[in-house]
Amino acid sequence: MQPKRCCIACRSRKDKNELFRIVSEQGKAVLDRNHNINSRGIYLCKDKKCINSAIKSIEKNRMNLKIKIENESILEVLRELGEEIWEN
Ligand SMILES: [Zn+2]
Repeated sequence: MQPKRCCIACRSRKDKNELFRIVSEQGKAVLDRNHNINSRGIYLCKDKKCINSAIKSIEKNRMNLKIKIENESILEVLRELGEEIWEN
């Protein structure tokens, strides 16, 4: 059985293929599209609502990401993901 992962925004547990994975590489956020970068990661639903709510919490410094990652770099990745989802 696939392990479930927890979305940083809505906290629901899902299969990892339903989630975006973002890892920290030297403190910079990198989108791990194939879930194969060997680094600690955070997970987020492929859902506009969760992306927006994560952006808001990170902007207000209200999110404990539990990995060392620069807020600005993660916001950049999240905004790109947001735009990608808009287009679909
Ligand atoms: Zn979510």
